[in-house]
Amino acid sequence: MRIAFVGLGIMGKHMARNLITAGHEVTVFDIVPAAVDELVRAGATPAGSASAAAATSEITITMLPDGPEVQAAILGPEGVLAGAQAGSAIVDMSSISPLVAQKVGAACAGKGIGFLDAPVSGGEPKAADGTLAIMAGGDAALFERVRPVFDVLGASATLTGPVGAGNVTKLANQIMVACNIAAMGEALVLATKAGLDPEVVFNAVKGGLAGSTVLNAKAPMVINRNFKPGFRIKLHQKDLRNALLAAESMKVSLPLTSLVQQALISLMNSGAGDLDHAAIVTWIEQMAGCEVRKPS
Ligand code: NAD
Repeated sequence: MRIAFVGLGIMGKHMARNLITAGHEVTVFDIVPAAVDELVRAGATPAGSASAAAATSEITITMLPDGPEVQAAILGPEGVLAGAQAGSAIVDMSSISPLVAQKVGAACAGKGIGFLDAPVSGGEPKAADGTLAIMAGGDAALFERVRPVFDVLGASATLTGPVGAGNVTKLANQIMVACNIAAMGEALVLATKAGLDPEVVFNAVKGGLAGSTVLNAKAPMVINRNFKPGFRIKLHQKDLRNALLAAESMKVSLPLTSLVQQALISLMNSGAGDLDHAAIVTWIEQMAGCEVRKPS
């Protein structure tokens, strides 16, 4: 297929590369020229704008930080929608507010362009391996048309409802991940302060009910004091903000999410916004005066 890819950051660069490796003709655009150059070296065709990338493509994928960037890149004057051919499709794989996804979807429908919101879970390692979990919202026939592309990018792709449902599902995912990391932090701080080796504690519990993908990915990072992103604190803060705004519009109370959101804001103010979200643990460490590391 001829595929345009817009947004070549931590996630997008791997996803675009996997599409090239799978034999698709990939045209790329990012506002950062170095990001485009990296993909051109991997076999992509460069475009000077999002609209130019879309003009020659059957499917345009966007992978951008948040709703404002998605609206600029799709609905803006040089955006995807300005260039997209009738009958083509736009798949936004960024994590954004479901309300913004619905607004973009309506604008696409008005021009006869199909739209799916299809955010992902799994982080950079799974983006690189092509084993992301993809959660999509939109028309079932369009979802089936795009499925071969999802099969390259992910290990699973699930249609959870109409446009916006993909991002509601992603927000549910982000609530579970953030609260899991915070709970893991409290547990490992307690164990470390009690004089235990946190790595031994991690190995003891990971096969039991407390075991999780989050624990397996993040506990070793904390124990090794490796907070290289990964998934940045400031992006998770954005996701919980979107979750709390969506919850407020539906009069849903999310007390645990609110608390972790306060931790993320505090971490951003202390300069940790670009660290991996495993650094949520450092907020709990500061309150306990105890760092999770192996005994020396
Ligand atoms: P990133 O900040 O590394 O990459 C975003 C890219 O978009 C950058 O290269 C930036 O230059 C580009 N960009 C911004 N505005 C643009 C515009 N108007 N036109 C073209 N390009 C533009 O972010 P990321 O970590 O790759 O995350 C992308 C999305 O995926 C986010 O919504 C994030 O929440 C979600 N996500 C990330 C991870 C992760 O582990 N990093 C995991 C799951 C989901």
